[in-house]
Amino acid sequence: MSKALVWVEHDNAAIKDATLAAITAALQIGEVDLIVAGSGCAAVAEAASRIAGVATVYLADHAAYAHALPENVAPLIVDLMGGHDAFLAPATSNGKNIAPRVAALLDVMQVSDILSVEGPRTFTRPTYAGNAIATVQSSDAKMVITVRSTAFARVASEGGSGSVAAVAGGGDAGLSSFIGAEIALSERPELTSAKVIVAGGRALKDARTFEATIFPLADTLGAAVGASRAAVDAGYVPNDYQIGQTGKIVAPEVYIAVGISGAIQHLAGMKDSGTIIAIDKDEEAPIFQVADIGLVADLFDAVPSLTQILREAK
Ligand code: FAD
Repeated sequence: MSKALVWVEHDNAAIKDATLAAITAALQIGEVDLIVAGSGCAAVAEAASRIAGVATVYLADHAAYAHALPENVAPLIVDLMGGHDAFLAPATSNGKNIAPRVAALLDVMQVSDILSVEGPRTFTRPTYAGNAIATVQSSDAKMVITVRSTAFARVASEGGSGSVAAVAGGGDAGLSSFIGAEIALSERPELTSAKVIVAGGRALKDARTFEATIFPLADTLGAAVGASRAAVDAGYVPNDYQIGQTGKIVAPEVYIAVGISGAIQHLAGMKDSGTIIAIDKDEEAPIFQVADIGLVADLFDAVPSLTQILREAK
């Protein structure tokens, strides 16, 4: 039976949700071990050992692993790959930072952003900005795979009885150092795990109008806020709000697109959402081709009215 090693994304305190989707994919390949690399993260390894279906959790606890620097973490993973056939990481910013380095060190081809596991070496993945789905088969001795977390259910975080084994690793490779992180703090849910997203486009005019129009609707629904690239490029919101081919991939239960035309690069990031609601004044806008519910209206009338109705209904 194949053995897979999954990199656990965490903040040295809690496991990030996307890891659970990567583990679901790994369980379809074979037996699953996890690698928890961090600093002061023994509790994370304990929690990881309770994830359903997990065999061994390798714990590398060292200051050099505190911030998931790929230069330090990748060699540690490569050392563990002697006993594994596949390495998987969630296709998050950090996962996409680490996996290619692992692939390069192993001298194998990475299989990126898989959507399904069709066999122990066969996967589907999007290509041409999600307009085509390729079925790919790896013939490499070791497979390195990133997993699109919206395409897999999350494995149960409790119910497993894995063991924890400490590993040393090489520590600081001396190639990079962590300077600092500027983390946007928000009361709203995180974009990639939100059940409801309200996203605004170029039509929102400027930062102040975006905030005055989109934020109240999002807050009434307890939703995360997203944006098209045009809205980000114009400075309405920071670029971690961007949804699409070069932004975040999301699949909430409800996606409300406001003044977003529906360019293919935007659709690539949200078209797998459960129910898509679009508000746009142009009835020919391509967003209506993927929308379940479409409202042809001026957003500056429709959105405040909708927000008011929802507030009154609460
Ligand atoms: P527009 O296309 O200008 O659409 C604005 C919409 O608002 C129109 O449909 C208009 O009818 C409507 N509107 C205007 N006023 C009102 C009003 N008062 N009431 C109601 N509706 C109104 N884009 C992304 O979003 N994400 C990506 O990740 C991304 N990656 C890209 C990567 C590449 C390589 C390239 C080339 C492009 C990428 N783009 C991406 C850009 C993409 O092609 C579009 O330019 C962008 O999505 C358009 O944003 P928009 O829909 O907000 O603006």
